[in-house]
Amino acid sequence: MKKLVILGSTGSIGTQTLDIVRRLPERLQIVALSGHRNVELLKQQADEFGVSPEWIECGDEANLERLATHPDADIVVVSVAGAVGTRATVAALRRGKDIALATKEVLVAAGEIVTRTARESGARLLPIDSEHSAIFQCLQGAPDNSVAKILLTASGGPFREWTKERMESVSIVDALNHPTWPSMGRKITIDSATLMNKGLETIEARWLFDIPMEQVEVVIHPQSVVHSLVEYHDGAVIAQLGLPDMRLPIQYALLYPERVDSGLPRMDMTQLAKPLTFEAPDTNRFPSLRLARDAGAAGGALPAVLNAANEAAVAQFLDAKITFPAIMTLVERTMHAHRPLENPDLDQIAAADQWARLTVTQLINEDPSLQWNGAAER
Ligand code: MG
Repeated sequence: MKKLVILGSTGSIGTQTLDIVRRLPERLQIVALSGHRNVELLKQQADEFGVSPEWIECGDEANLERLATHPDADIVVVSVAGAVGTRATVAALRRGKDIALATKEVLVAAGEIVTRTARESGARLLPIDSEHSAIFQCLQGAPDNSVAKILLTASGGPFREWTKERMESVSIVDALNHPTWPSMGRKITIDSATLMNKGLETIEARWLFDIPMEQVEVVIHPQSVVHSLVEYHDGAVIAQLGLPDMRLPIQYALLYPERVDSGLPRMDMTQLAKPLTFEAPDTNRFPSLRLARDAGAAGGALPAVLNAANEAAVAQFLDAKITFPAIMTLVERTMHAHRPLENPDLDQIAAADQWARLTVTQLINEDPSLQWNGAAER
């Protein structure tokens, strides 16, 4: 029996994790849960899974740390929205608890510290992100130094075929309309539309699989059937395929390395209606991939700045304050204004994160061309 803590149990990944626990009650048990604002649902979950009231929290950062270091926990599912889960992740790893990571922002902001802490304590970092789960599965049994590159697939988002000009007038409704993955959170759906989600995933892959940024590539695959691929030095390419259902990567992380039937739907290869296509991404229309590559290669606190500026800009877009292309303009300007930091600690990373959020607000106030003027139409 594995004992689980879920940070972010009321979100999309959290509720799907609970569905896996519901399907495998003899293998998985919940010992602590945290939610964000949905207190009602959190209480309902605690009741259903028999979690004692002292181990549920509507989380600020300090409370997350307390839950993540629950004495009985074997594995902590980190599925909060954004870099707010970083300290809790590090605290759990320090105590030797495995992490099933859905919150990629944690590795983007503090990848060096998080992976070093895992190495030192011997705890495992298991990916829940579908692409990284795919890569992790493709890497099973691979000898050291055998990987030539990692290929992350991207659906391309709802604006894959839109011109740069047309993207000026993207509305919140347009951007929340993801073509292949149903019912994701709002922040990640916007990140999928700007392709920043994929940008963040390149940095996440760099840390999870200890591979240089230049060996991580993105390929647009609109059907989202191939979840990612690994190319080996001998030229072999191994891919993982599946339905767009997050419960499979969640289950793989929770039971790794075991594979059991929990009754999830199966993919029927003969029923794939469309041909599978692959194309190179357009970094002119989607500058996020270039910005993430630059941040990941530079290191220091720049990836934390990229991430925080993006979180802040996406919130402003969802608040109908700025245009869609302004999100990336703000990320780029904030990155340029950042003064490089060598080997930052968690406090310095948190400070850089705060600075980036303030800088975004300042930049919006200074430049009316970034501001959205059609609020009524949304
Ligand atoms: Mg993903």
